[in-house]
Amino acid sequence: MKKSFEKKYAIHVGSMKYGAHEDHLTVDREFFEHFEERMVEDGEVEVHLDMFRYDTHVDVKFKLDGYVVLNCDRCLEPYQFPISSEQRIIYSFDKEMSFKGYEVMYTDPYAAFLSIVQELYDFISIAIPLRKVPEEDVHQCDPQVISYILSEEETGNSQEEASDEIDPRWEALKKLRKLGN
Ligand SMILES: [Zn+2]
Repeated sequence: MKKSFEKKYAIHVGSMKYGAHEDHLTVDREFFEHFEERMVEDGEVEVHLDMFRYDTHVDVKFKLDGYVVLNCDRCLEPYQFPISSEQRIIYSFDKEMSFKGYEVMYTDPYAAFLSIVQELYDFISIAIPLRKVPEEDVHQCDPQVISYILSEEETGNSQEEASDEIDPRWEALKKLRKLGN
């Protein structure tokens, strides 16, 4: 991963004075393109950082708001899935310190900046549903695609009747489609 990219999505602890700080970042298509095996291709998520720098650690609150583009399981067309989450991580420079009940990452006390690329990617990834079946007010399936899928299913059925042996791959596919409906 390029240094300039990591620096863009980072907390610049080296120059950070003790006390409260704020920052704002945007996660977009360009961000996702840096991941080879990405779950998302496109989107726009605003990230607000509320930080407090102590001698020994930085307490960071992440607020994510926006959307990612997913493909509908039924018709494979893209739709906007809203992302809205709040997270908190304590970046500690001291391995001896414990922060019970908090998510803690121990970091190099001499680092100029802390990359938060992976954190942002993970926050978005965990928000993505396994089943991508959007509500009708978000996305309406293309009726042409749906009728095509249905007609394919009908053809599959008539073939089954003609032969006793059912291709197990077709069965698996039909089950998947039923789940998606
Ligand atoms: Zn659809």
